[in-house]
Amino acid sequence: MQKLQNYINGELTEPIGKQYIDNYDPSTGKVYSLLPDSDERDVQLAVEAAKAAFPSWSVTPKDQRAAVLLRISSLIDKSLERLAKAESKDNGKPVSLARTVDIPRAAANFHFYATGILHFASEAHAMEEEAINYTLRNPVGVAGCISPWNLPLYLFSWKIAPALAAGNCVVAKPSEITPMTAFLLSELCIEAGLPKGVLNIVHGYGHKVGSAITAHPEIPLISFTGGTKTGAEIARVAAPMFKKLSLELGGKNPNLIFADCNYENMLRTTMNSSFANQGQICLCGSRIMVERSIYEKFKTDFVAKASKMSVGNPADDKTKMGAVVSEQHMEKILACIELAKSEGGKVLCGGNRVYLDGENKGGYFIAPTVIEGLPYNCRTNQEEIFGPVVTIMPFDTEAEALMMANASTYGLASILWTENLTRAHRLAGKLHTGIVWINCWLLRDLRTPFGGVKGSGVGREGGFEAFDFFTEPKNVCIKL
Ligand code: NAD
Repeated sequence: MQKLQNYINGELTEPIGKQYIDNYDPSTGKVYSLLPDSDERDVQLAVEAAKAAFPSWSVTPKDQRAAVLLRISSLIDKSLERLAKAESKDNGKPVSLARTVDIPRAAANFHFYATGILHFASEAHAMEEEAINYTLRNPVGVAGCISPWNLPLYLFSWKIAPALAAGNCVVAKPSEITPMTAFLLSELCIEAGLPKGVLNIVHGYGHKVGSAITAHPEIPLISFTGGTKTGAEIARVAAPMFKKLSLELGGKNPNLIFADCNYENMLRTTMNSSFANQGQICLCGSRIMVERSIYEKFKTDFVAKASKMSVGNPADDKTKMGAVVSEQHMEKILACIELAKSEGGKVLCGGNRVYLDGENKGGYFIAPTVIEGLPYNCRTNQEEIFGPVVTIMPFDTEAEALMMANASTYGLASILWTENLTRAHRLAGKLHTGIVWINCWLLRDLRTPFGGVKGSGVGREGGFEAFDFFTEPKNVCIKL
């Protein structure tokens, strides 16, 4: 069975403890590879390698750093098919999704930040004839990057690429649930000639490797994407050490549908924003609020479409809905559906595990699930499910829709469907989320600030915001 390795100081290495963790294929329920069960000793080696590489990498001219990152980007592009298949097998997502979204975006992340750093500049503040200030923006040192399982290579590279482009060295940890493409990336980094120690990838559990990265005194900056509870734990440990923190956390995103929307466009996109990646995207709209005059029509059309959405083998090119990521996560989602029923929710379609035939017999599949009849403030409408489960609710007025949308401890993204321009702008300003999509979903320009408010996180990624985070500003004041 394939044994994945850590990537430390430019080499693929065994974990010091020589222990491994089973890695499951969620579409079969079977173990298909092993990943290092690393601990704080491996993190220590990675930090030492990163520290040793930093003096040289941080002063390597930007265009040379960019050139290496561009080589990584084009190697990802060349390996598209292999990486897409690996991501699909590791995560359970349809291979068509990995091929068109996850892997191209990982290549784009490296490309975007490799070229972005060439345009990144700092400010100067002249004090008339008295003095001039200029701001230096230096890399911080060793950056810790910790990422989740839902968009494995996509989110891993979204952190690593700006950190490296800005001149930091990195100790990174992918999710132990989906380690494969991070391992394949380490092979590509070696092929691309990334200097040793600049990027180090340590595999293993969050409570061992993740917490060792968070607590390490020589990692002054942590970029984390994952659950809100984990984010709070990281903040608890890192804050007294005065680490720089970027936390991209959970969501419970509202999808507001007004009667004056472009109905067909809305319906098609809402299927996607509800069930793409089996609903396991932090940006999915899981609370669907519909203006009462079109509620019944929407319900009939949406449920008809969701019922027809067939769940299938993720490796099959035609599959649109694959497996959820793990048995534990499947059990959690099924428990959330039971909770919804106990709160008085009516399951309009789905609500159950799906058993496929043949090699996928033991896979973790759940039917697309639509639930109605729940108040906006019940647990089902407040807690993140992170699966193919949405609730639908009618509203009567714009004010009521806004109130329900904002009645959440989360604030990552919101989706708004209306052809009324004035209403769109009015609500965009009032929605308590870091991102508002109007008449679209998941349309991303990598230059824009990405992140959430409230329990969805602290800080922004994307564009120059990421370079601001991965550099430390220093003001220099010269008396004239
Ligand atoms: P998670 O918090 O369980 O794990 C995320 C990462 O943190 C993993 O690598 C894990 O090993 C590590 N980790 C776990 N405990 C740790 C600890 N004590 N210290 C340091 N690291 C630790 O999240 P998950 O289940 O992998 O991902 C799903 C969650 O991520 C959902 O809540 C989803 O909304 C969120 N998410 C947010 C965004 C965003 O951009 N805001 C994007 C994707 C996913």
